[in-house]
Amino acid sequence: MVNDDMSSELINRSNSASADAKDDFLVGGGNMGDRTRSFDWSRTSLGPIAGWPASLKTAVSIVLGCQYPLLIWWGDELLHFYNDGYVPVLGQRHPQALGQPAPQVWSEAWPIVGPQVQAVMERGHSYFNEETLVTMTRNGYQEEVYMTFSFGPIRDHNGGVGGVFCACTEETQRVVDRRRLKTLRSLADRSFQVRTAAEACTIALDTLGDNAHDLPFVLLYLIDANGQRAELAGLSGLQRGSPAVPDAIDVSSPGALWPLRQVMETGQAIAVDGLSQRFGPLPGGPWPEPTERAMVLPIVQSGHNRVAGFLVTGISPRLPLDDAYRGFFDLIAGQVATTIASARGFEEERRRAEALAELDRAKTAFFSNVSHEFRTPLTLMLGPMEDGLSDRGQPLPPRQRERQELIHRNALRLLRLVNTLLDFSRIEAGRAQASFEPIDLSSYTTDLASTFRSAIESAKMQLVVDCPPLSQPVFVDRDMWEKIVLNLLSNAFKHTFTGSITLSLREVVGQVEIRVIDTGIGISADQIPRLFERFHRVQGAQARTHEGSGIGLALAHELVKLHGGSIQVESQIDRGSTFLVSIPLGSSHLPAEQTGTTRSRPSTAVGANAFVEEALSWLPEVAEAGHRSEIFPALTCEHFDRNVVDDQPDAEADQSVRILLADDNADMRRYVRGILNRRWTVDAVADGAAALEAARAHAPDLILSDVMMPKLDGFGLLRELRADPALRHTPVILLSARAGEEASIEGLKAGADDYLIKPFSAQELIARVAAHLGMARMRRESAQRERALSDAALATDRRAAQVLESINDGFCTLNSEWRYTFINPAAQRMAPILADALGKTLFDIFPEVRSTIVEDSLHRCVREQTSI
Ligand code: ADP
Repeated sequence: MVNDDMSSELINRSNSASADAKDDFLVGGGNMGDRTRSFDWSRTSLGPIAGWPASLKTAVSIVLGCQYPLLIWWGDELLHFYNDGYVPVLGQRHPQALGQPAPQVWSEAWPIVGPQVQAVMERGHSYFNEETLVTMTRNGYQEEVYMTFSFGPIRDHNGGVGGVFCACTEETQRVVDRRRLKTLRSLADRSFQVRTAAEACTIALDTLGDNAHDLPFVLLYLIDANGQRAELAGLSGLQRGSPAVPDAIDVSSPGALWPLRQVMETGQAIAVDGLSQRFGPLPGGPWPEPTERAMVLPIVQSGHNRVAGFLVTGISPRLPLDDAYRGFFDLIAGQVATTIASARGFEEERRRAEALAELDRAKTAFFSNVSHEFRTPLTLMLGPMEDGLSDRGQPLPPRQRERQELIHRNALRLLRLVNTLLDFSRIEAGRAQASFEPIDLSSYTTDLASTFRSAIESAKMQLVVDCPPLSQPVFVDRDMWEKIVLNLLSNAFKHTFTGSITLSLREVVGQVEIRVIDTGIGISADQIPRLFERFHRVQGAQARTHEGSGIGLALAHELVKLHGGSIQVESQIDRGSTFLVSIPLGSSHLPAEQTGTTRSRPSTAVGANAFVEEALSWLPEVAEAGHRSEIFPALTCEHFDRNVVDDQPDAEADQSVRILLADDNADMRRYVRGILNRRWTVDAVADGAAALEAARAHAPDLILSDVMMPKLDGFGLLRELRADPALRHTPVILLSARAGEEASIEGLKAGADDYLIKPFSAQELIARVAAHLGMARMRRESAQRERALSDAALATDRRAAQVLESINDGFCTLNSEWRYTFINPAAQRMAPILADALGKTLFDIFPEVRSTIVEDSLHRCVREQTSI
């Protein structure tokens, strides 16, 4: 190998020789042109330039005149010619490589290129090598280099091959970048599969382990919950137990095997040198030489700016640690952090979902048990009650009948709820027993929908039933279909205040579709995905009643699924909603054992009337008027009003006292009113907004309010009342079904005077209302007394002032004789006595002005007058 000094010496010595040489063909060519011209070729086997064959001269002139990396190897020795474009490929071998034999210059690459060059020289072959790995020692170490190059023969004047022409490009950066990109992409792709943090570490290390060229080894440490220890979470390219692989590292220790503390403190990656010295030789990836350097990178938890762990990566012994390599490490650390964070997020989410599912299961199991328990007593209550209500031989007296009807309606409501819960638990346990039979679905659905007509029309809305005959009977379970249709209709009615509710049935290819379309409040897009979840309710949704348990749609969904169908919803806020149920025609999709059979379990359907009865109770006008029972229409029904309560006069009745009652449940309104209006006048309204309006129009003596109500709830009402100077002191008792100390405290904190938990007894209600009315009366009276007293005090003060003024005036008009008498010290001693006497006389005349203040003033006045 020729060194730099030697080469310059050769150039200088040959300057004179080349000057007279015939080297016109060597004009230009930049730096390598100069070097080629000034090189002492006479010391090589080629001899002076003048003697070169024409083919060599032409080839050299082409190489030097071109900027693309080109080279020539000429003659048996394959002497090296190259241009400026080729210099970077040579690295430190430039400029010594000029005029040197190629096998010597490229000794390490010769095993690959040598045979090809030989074939070019001997047989005139040509070769093209794309992105070929060529290990070079151009920068003082063995380097991983990728070249694309071609070899072709240069013919001499005899037609023989005089040399090899080579065009080449270095592709190292492109190849390495592509490889790194692949690693990053695969890391990102695979991160989507991870479900746990441990899995994230395994997958990350597997992926990084696939790229040993750039990452000869990788260690992943995660900081424990205390932030003290970094624990080994995975590794690739090294074995556990190796001196370079501690299982855990104290992150606060300055002398730890890997400088985690420094990385933690600075948040920056640190390169560590001399690994062989520290740990003995560590693997160099695919290369035989060991890895001497490593990077220690922080894994920063995204969004928290907190170091959650460390990545220790070996640096390839055959690559320079340049900006691109550092950037690659940073990207890897970032991606690993993201993968772990998303896995932890997923774990957290899953834990939450599992906890919720567990809660749901527990709730369902609990409901299932209590449902069974409730059904028996409910049945035993409903049966005799129905017998009594429909007994024509011994009809109940009107007031008893009203009471029984109230109980019946509500027991039926409870039964419906209990049955729904039972349906759920059966579905959940896979024990839902359907009995699918072919029916005329059009007329059955029309009948079901028509039961809602009275309620819808009473609310001054329109019911449109559009169910044309279908071409064939449809397999449905009657009870289940009833529940689906009635739940959807009842929801539409609950959330629609004007316009119409339409129910349409259509046969489309292979299925039948039923749509329940309303012109109601609509549902916001973010709520739609959760609508069919059990117990999910839309917070703050406007409705005819606040009552509901959030299971109607979930049940409808489950029942539709049992029919092999689907349920969907489209909705626009303030425009309305459309619920679309599709079920397949025919019966092939249904379990054969449930088709055309009769049900062995008792039905849980309560009938359309129970739904309609409840819906009617949401209409304040109908409910207040006391609607005719839909269930026992044959018997008359009296109004449940003031006249239906006990005939016994209430000794403490005071109908001038007005109580305002707000509750959205019509039965509850009527019940409470029935209890209270024996004694007081009760005005009942169905929501908080109406209560506020009524109270502002005519201030009541006491307000009784439910907590959960549409439009304005009990707490909202309280807030408005307390902010209104005219109503601020009106006693408010909250009624709520939310039992427990916390609920009461919350109510009292909000400013309620009392909090009554449903169910409450009539006596308790009367006692509390009476107590608060009494307290309010006492407060009023004492305020009045105080006002009267302060008025009286004011009047007395004014009178006393007048009296004192006249005494003063009186003194002033006394003749001087008198006055001099008072100057006399003896007389002065008389002053208090005089004042007392005067006062006494005065208070005898004006007893109402007697007070210590007046007496003091009198004494002062006498003193002042006598001291003139
Ligand atoms: P519930 O009526 O007992 O609250 P559901 O499961 O029947 O429970 O309904 C869930 C929620 O979906 C309701 O709380 C309501 O907010 C919303 N919803 C259902 N049907 C409609 C409708 N037709 N229009 C607007 N909102 C509706």
